[in-house]
Amino acid sequence: MTEILVTGGAGYIGSHTCISLLDAGYDVIILDNLSNSRFAVVSRIQEISGKTVTFYPYDAANELELEKVFARHDISCVIHFAGKKAVGESVHMPIDYYRINLNTTLSLCTVMQKHNVKNIVFSSSATVYGTSDIMPLQEDFPLGECTNPYGWTKWMNERILRDIWNSDPSWSIHLLRYFNPVGAHSSGRIGEDPLGIPNNLFPILLQTAVGRIPKLIIHGNDYPTPDGTGIRDYIHVMDLAEGHVASVKKCLSDSGVNIFNLGTGKGYSVLEILTTFEKTIGRRIPCEIGPRRPGDVAICYAGTQKAETELHWKASRDILSMCKDAWNWQSQNPFGYE
Ligand code: NAD
Ligand code: UDP
Repeated sequence: MTEILVTGGAGYIGSHTCISLLDAGYDVIILDNLSNSRFAVVSRIQEISGKTVTFYPYDAANELELEKVFARHDISCVIHFAGKKAVGESVHMPIDYYRINLNTTLSLCTVMQKHNVKNIVFSSSATVYGTSDIMPLQEDFPLGECTNPYGWTKWMNERILRDIWNSDPSWSIHLLRYFNPVGAHSSGRIGEDPLGIPNNLFPILLQTAVGRIPKLIIHGNDYPTPDGTGIRDYIHVMDLAEGHVASVKKCLSDSGVNIFNLGTGKGYSVLEILTTFEKTIGRRIPCEIGPRRPGDVAICYAGTQKAETELHWKASRDILSMCKDAWNWQSQNPFGYE
């Protein structure tokens, strides 16, 4: 069996990816220090898949702990999700963001190199494109100026991984630039469970619907878009998970640095999402129009041709299924995994 190490595998995207990897017949090893997730997730992954995963409650920046994992397993490929991800928090805690998001990658690659494991799939983000006005965003566009430390950590990780390949072209490195992952596994047993007050549209809608947040503030309705609200490329987290399986398959037989956007190629406005979500839950969500959020762009969506051609993967779930599955998770687990 092919063993895949998933750092951050108990987190939102990692847990869904573990399900898809197990479904595809891979053996999964999760390494997660549970700093932003819970052990219950690991049990639920096993419950959904009917398969066993090996779990290490280790820190991905700790080389001694990583050593133990690489010594015990014959790892073919690593998917590196572990890290901190809150844009707003990164502005107030830049040292933590640079330290954790860079040290995890540096330690991981050090130990990978030592054990001659040179296949890595890295969680990057559309944020590395900066504030481009040209849509769709294509993988070969120049990288932009990031608007926050979190974005710069993704930018720097991409740079580090590229330089590792420059020094040793036998590495196979996939940089996956995610657009806006939303939704949950259709069982409703795993989903997004943000700590603290969320900043992203979907968790805010969901928590408003269960009464944890009083209302949605729409950040600006004067953008140059058909209804004036911001447009984003929302992608169902299970499509994203399947995109990782396609990436792992190709990464195992590739060499070089390969970059793929993982999005749908379609954009939806805040009002379109709100209306679809209200239709899904059968009631209105309290909301009001507020000012624009600093740093927001009007429109952002992915060019998807490269992933379709080279990974043979295409997102298939629509915005209604994103809303339905997200609501199925939140209504069954109004307080997340608590
Ligand atoms: P998440 O916080 O739910 O998952 C990250 C997991 O990593 C958590 O389980 C956390 O406990 C773990 N972790 C953090 N630091 C660790 C460390 N030092 N050692 C071991 N484990 C550690 O986040 P997510 O939404 O699943 O995102 C996964 C990855 O995808 C992140 O790298 C994130 O930056 C990236 N990404 C996410 C989005 C998004 O919108 N969710 C968009 C683009 C990119
Ligand atoms: N948004 C909003 N109210 C909120 C959170 C987000 O109107 O409370 C808007 C935001 O301005 C953007 C879209 O929803 O146009 C998606 O925002 P999110 O933070 O989810 O993703 P990102 O902007 O990081 O792509």
